[in-house]
Amino acid sequence: MYPADRPLLVVTDAAARLVRRGLVAPGDAVRWRGARVAVFRRGPVVCELPAARVDAPSRAPYFPRDSQPARADSVSYPGARRFAPRMTLALYNTLTRRVEPFQPLAPPRVTLYTCGPTVWNYAHLGNFRTFLFEDLLRRYLEASGYEVFHIMNLTDVDDRTIKAARAAGTTLRQHTEPFVRAFFEDRDYLRLRPAHAHPRATESVPAMIVLVRRLLDRGVAYQGDDGSVYFAIDRFPGYGRLSGLDRREIKVGARVASDEYAKEDPRDFALWKKAGPDDDAVGAAWDAPFGRGRPGWHLECSAMSLYEIGTRFGVETLDIHAGGVDLIFPHHEDEIAQSEAATGRPFARWWLHGEFLNVRGTKMSKRFGNFLAARDLREQGVDAAAVRLLFWQTHYRKPLDFTDEALAAAGEGVKRLGDFRARLVGEGGRGRGEGRLARLAAEFEAAFRAALDDDLNAPQACAALFQLAHAGNRALDAGAGGAVAAVAALDRAMAVLDVLPTPRTPEPDFARWIEAQVAARERARKSKDFKEADRIRAALLARGVELEDTPTGTKWRVA
Ligand code: AMP
Ligand code: ZN
Repeated sequence: MYPADRPLLVVTDAAARLVRRGLVAPGDAVRWRGARVAVFRRGPVVCELPAARVDAPSRAPYFPRDSQPARADSVSYPGARRFAPRMTLALYNTLTRRVEPFQPLAPPRVTLYTCGPTVWNYAHLGNFRTFLFEDLLRRYLEASGYEVFHIMNLTDVDDRTIKAARAAGTTLRQHTEPFVRAFFEDRDYLRLRPAHAHPRATESVPAMIVLVRRLLDRGVAYQGDDGSVYFAIDRFPGYGRLSGLDRREIKVGARVASDEYAKEDPRDFALWKKAGPDDDAVGAAWDAPFGRGRPGWHLECSAMSLYEIGTRFGVETLDIHAGGVDLIFPHHEDEIAQSEAATGRPFARWWLHGEFLNVRGTKMSKRFGNFLAARDLREQGVDAAAVRLLFWQTHYRKPLDFTDEALAAAGEGVKRLGDFRARLVGEGGRGRGEGRLARLAAEFEAAFRAALDDDLNAPQACAALFQLAHAGNRALDAGAGGAVAAVAALDRAMAVLDVLPTPRTPEPDFARWIEAQVAARERARKSKDFKEADRIRAALLARGVELEDTPTGTKWRVA
């Protein structure tokens, strides 16, 4: 029996069965039914399928353990309230440097890969500005009728994680695990929709080994005299296209082993780094046919994204790849080189990059010590809606300076929106039908969608939202009708922006009192005593409790 604690990469059921049945032993490399199955000594099973079969979607998708994926069989978000389908979205593509009409390969599906956090430490608010821009993108695609499959990796092995684990005297896994958990907590606090797949680099090494092998076989990679495997950038003619690098700058044969380096210094970069004593000490080394070592950071994202879309959808091209602007070079440039050199196909059709969150003009970064962790804000009792609104009020391609004042102002904005919705809901059945509010809502929705269709112009979408609140409050003062339509339009916008105040959790006694009032109102309604029902609703509202009558019963929340 193959020891249960050794990771298995199950590309097909057959590969796993071979090992379990003892037909192939660790260390073997065999061919079986046209598939090449290689089993490495210390680690995983790798099954390289012939090209024709790689394109066939696998019936047994691979789910990384502990990855907390959303339901993978249903990629649409259950709570999403959608706009009527309309495909007029245009997005700025870093690759072409133009705003282009968005058209996925196989609509309505959109494959979206976003570079995830490096879990050497807590993610800071700068990281979350990028993750939030990606959340906006994902939510707007979903609201526009697309079925998004979102992959966000967890970088749990790279130069930084190894250095941090070494300094802490722990293994890589022991060091990164708490930060993975913290990331998921922060993600939920900031209301980011969970990705459908969160592959971890350390659990995806077999796919990385396969990719390096492919690049070696194709002659675009070579083993250096230091034992590491490098990508020869002069053998990939498209190198530099994303970042606008002049090919004359490319230094033939010069090499760089570190994960990060400057654009001014393009060199052959490491795909697979020969294991050193630090790598082995923290458990960050794997056996491979080209030597014991560990993957380079750039290789990780190429391998994980190609693996996910290859096994699930049988394709080798992503619809969208996104990250912060600092990833354009070298990370994304190198991802393109590795992936396209291996597959011969475009790696991603749209490349989207979010600008920095700054502090007094300097990028928020651990390195500069000017950072704020998401959990700091949570501990200070900051409503996540305020953070979201703050970020939406600057376009994702413009730098944003973080200040406490701007955050406090966003908090006020969130409150105003919450109060406006409460007033609309308070109108209850009286707001049904046509009326000024319904007309305002229709105008708002058209402006909101036009703004987001235009390269996710969230500041303009927010302006339309506050205009609705302003004009809507005046219409309410004047006793206008149409509140039900206005709530519906507001809620559709909230499925994208999600900036209503976080409902307060009431004390148990208060909650019991609310439940009793809601039940009494229900009885009054059943016996057609609408005066009493309205009186109870008003009494609840006076204590900050909003009611919403839905087909499944009355819901309440404390604003
Ligand atoms: P890392 O955890 O360092 O791998 O970074 C995760 C993501 O955060 C990447 O997409 C980076 O581009 C992004 N990022 C890092 N610093 C900032 C910042 N100050 N503002 C916006 N995005 C950032
Ligand atoms: Zn990446």
